[in-house]
Amino acid sequence: MVGIAIRGLSKSYDGVPAVRSVDLDVPPGSLTFLLGPSGCGKSTMLRMVAGFVEPDAGSIRFGDRDVTQMAPERRNAGLVFQNYALWPHMSVAQNVAFGLEVRKMPKADIARRVDECLGLVRMREYASRTPNQLSGGQQQRVALARAIAFRPDVLLLDEPLSNLDAKLRIDMRAEIRRIVDELRMTTIYVTHDRDEALSLADSIVVMRSGDVVQRGTPRELYERPNSKFIAGFLGETNLVEGAIEGAAGADSMVQVRTPIGSLRAYVPESLARAGTVTLSIRPEAMSLMRGAAQASAGADVIRATITSTTYLGAVAHHEVAVGGIALRVLETNPRVPARPGEEVQLAVSPDQVVGVAGTP
Ligand code: ADP
Ligand code: MG
Repeated sequence: MVGIAIRGLSKSYDGVPAVRSVDLDVPPGSLTFLLGPSGCGKSTMLRMVAGFVEPDAGSIRFGDRDVTQMAPERRNAGLVFQNYALWPHMSVAQNVAFGLEVRKMPKADIARRVDECLGLVRMREYASRTPNQLSGGQQQRVALARAIAFRPDVLLLDEPLSNLDAKLRIDMRAEIRRIVDELRMTTIYVTHDRDEALSLADSIVVMRSGDVVQRGTPRELYERPNSKFIAGFLGETNLVEGAIEGAAGADSMVQVRTPIGSLRAYVPESLARAGTVTLSIRPEAMSLMRGAAQASAGADVIRATITSTTYLGAVAHHEVAVGGIALRVLETNPRVPARPGEEVQLAVSPDQVVGVAGTP
């Protein structure tokens, strides 16, 4: 297993930066995501790592090999790209075998390896079909088998599930994770889909306009977004402005006066200095309580009035009003019908109220 180490990688097109001096470390055998909105530079990053786009500056190492100037076919990287289709005139087995033949592997070994890889993606019984006899999901699995067949040092995936329908996407997510784990392959996975990243990643690097704006585990990014952009990109959230009143215990907890009440919040020191702050509170972080129900000790309570409710069986989405502000609240297992005008209490744990920067 090798790790990937990228330093100061930059690329501009016609003077417009697509990737701005990005550093990235992918530990050996781990699955790192590049996540961000369309146009933020993810594919440009991955194409530079694969060798299809020449960087303006910076370096790329696979383990102790500097591959920055190396031709793509010499980098020993497996690729699954959106526009990197299977060869239509070759059978499934021939598609998977091709990279092995190029590398002059003995015929018997090729047959064994093709069989093994098709087994990994559960496509053994389709070996003699041609790609146009396969569904989209099956083609995608063959593309993955082709990418891993020659045991690449690194696996590079660019929106590998984007052409699949929703159900297949979720099935394939699990397959990819299983295969990466089984082969312990160092992988960079590019997507704009937060659910893919949250559900699969060891580590996520979020990009915006060619820059890395935050990196961390799925949980770190979801629970401790460092900006409004990250908070909103990783999930739904409520943003509330407030004035910092003082410290509220250790670990960056402060008391914040807001239009929805005075709340304790986690605000990193660098933001707390400004005196005012934007707080992010996710809809599921607030528990809706009715009547005389008591919030658990340690929670802050917000009094609110329900304005509207969408009932979905497993969950209900409420819009509530408090202090002239509309908040979205998610209730799980909603057993009691909600009605507009109903007075409720929202209990929120202070560590789920997070100060975020206005700009990334
Ligand atoms: P993403 O994959 O995140 O959607 P890309 O890396 O494809 O983003 O593109 C980043 C930026 O670089 C975009 O503004 C895009 O228009 C531009 N870009 C990408 N490839 C080229 C190219 N070959 N020529 C000119 N501009 C490009
Ligand atoms: Mg792209």
